[in-house]
Amino acid sequence: MIIAVDGPTASGKGTIARALADHFGLPVLDTGMLYRAVGYQTQLNHGDPDDSADALAACDFPDGLLHDPALRYESTGSLASRVSIHPAVRKALFQRQVDFANQPGGAVLDGRDIGTVIAPHADAKLFVTASPEERARRRHAEMLGRGVDVTYDAVLADIHARDARDTGRADAPLLRATDALLLDNTTLDRDAAVAAAIAFVVGRVGKPG
Ligand code: C5P
Repeated sequence: MIIAVDGPTASGKGTIARALADHFGLPVLDTGMLYRAVGYQTQLNHGDPDDSADALAACDFPDGLLHDPALRYESTGSLASRVSIHPAVRKALFQRQVDFANQPGGAVLDGRDIGTVIAPHADAKLFVTASPEERARRRHAEMLGRGVDVTYDAVLADIHARDARDTGRADAPLLRATDALLLDNTTLDRDAAVAAAIAFVVGRVGKPG
């Protein structure tokens, strides 16, 4: 069984993807980490994330980089969103994601284009979202909890900028697949959102798990 979970930044799609993977006993891939690794490696190479050749060169990042805590930084998320615009980068990361999706037994993947490009044949697709203000509120609270000194307005501005880049790019933009469940969790807590996601997948594939 392949489950595709897409959605904008800070929508809770990673939480939903991990909960689905736990529930159904499937491996999970956070594909944003691949783009984060490319963005971060571009910076390590002193390259320009807006330059396609520099970003492509960074696709050779060592696998160990995927465990670097710096990949979680907000600044790395912005770098990721800039390198992910380049079709050459998306092409370089394509097969790795397709292979993960198609492994025996299935998988859960979360990202921006899983249900539309990487696994259009997925058994169940979810598009997880929430209002930009609610996403900013949650991200801001989480950052303050980690001791990061940042204002709500700065977080909201970053979310708007990332949304504009992710939905506006020509290649594989953030888009809800027509057959994806729209899971808007603006007013749902984590448990309610996870329960809705599990119920949807069970309804699609008929496996109570
Ligand atoms: O999901 P996350 O915020 O970690 O992703 C970082 C950036 O990587 C996103 O803003 C997006 O531009 C890019 N990305 C993408 N396609 C994916 C996953 C992430 O373009 N499948």
